[in-house]
Amino acid sequence: MSKPKVAFIGTGGTIASIGAGPLDIQDYSATGKVMQADAILERFPETALVADVLAVPYRNIASPGIGWPDWKALVETCARLVAEHADLAGIVIGHGTATLEETAYFLSLTLKVAVPVVLVGAQRPSSALSTDAGLNLVNAIRVAASPEARGLGVLVVLNDEIHAAREVTKTSTSRMQTFRAADFGALGHADSDAIAFYRRPIRRAAPDTEFDIAGLDALPRVDIAYSYAGGDGVAIRAFIAAGARGIVSAGFAPGLGTPAETEALREAVAAGVTVMQSTRAGSGRVYRGTRLRDWGFLVADNLTPQKARLLLALALTRTDDPEAIQEMFRVY
Ligand code: ASP
Repeated sequence: MSKPKVAFIGTGGTIASIGAGPLDIQDYSATGKVMQADAILERFPETALVADVLAVPYRNIASPGIGWPDWKALVETCARLVAEHADLAGIVIGHGTATLEETAYFLSLTLKVAVPVVLVGAQRPSSALSTDAGLNLVNAIRVAASPEARGLGVLVVLNDEIHAAREVTKTSTSRMQTFRAADFGALGHADSDAIAFYRRPIRRAAPDTEFDIAGLDALPRVDIAYSYAGGDGVAIRAFIAAGARGIVSAGFAPGLGTPAETEALREAVAAGVTVMQSTRAGSGRVYRGTRLRDWGFLVADNLTPQKARLLLALALTRTDDPEAIQEMFRVY
């Protein structure tokens, strides 16, 4: 039987990195050695056992440097790959783990392709003793080729676990089990004998979304204000002065800032800035209570601040109407 065809776009990150030696587990970026997609596939020839993998060249970036231009390029690249390869079963994107969840959610809101798109990274560089790069990549390719992975939005595969882009967050700097979905857990597992799914996310995701970035030159500016005891709102006023169209408040759980921060956020609302209340807790819904309503704040549901920022930026490309934006946070 012929193997499924899967495209592999490498954007850099630890999965693409080569350290000084097998025991260089954490300081590997100092070597500056980062592989393109074709070199990663050559280093892990086991990838060819599970699929016919097409290496797609892209520039190598440490993922803290990834943002809007890359997301736009990735959306375009995925569309091109599907248009050029009618037999493509799925797409895997290798990515640094630092911002992997943000790229995954952004793509899950904006891609227009029906094939599964899977993001994969690694906690240990490809050259390390006991690296997770090779197995994570093989598993991501298997998931991308799996017909059951269709219709689940963008997926994230590391450490044998399959996660929904909307739900997953990096929770630990260096531990292997870093990617967790705090409220609801993994969607399934990549085991040797099967790609096993146990549930489907029900929030709307690619390709069935209203966000089309094809004609967009830039995302509306949305900033995140992190709450801490004693916070005085100086950062919030700086965001307003910088022209923010939205501010996500990463507030104390269950979802509020200090009195001074709240005052600054209310000034933002008065200035026409959309204020989205989220929490720094890492899990759980923000409740839209009387005071938040009275202040004109919207709530981020259970999205982390960094994901609420992406949805708010995309929402602002469609509307300024607060209730329409709030509805999008219920749907996506
Ligand atoms: N520094 C890396 C990055 O590009 C970390 C990683 O890939 O795990 O995000």
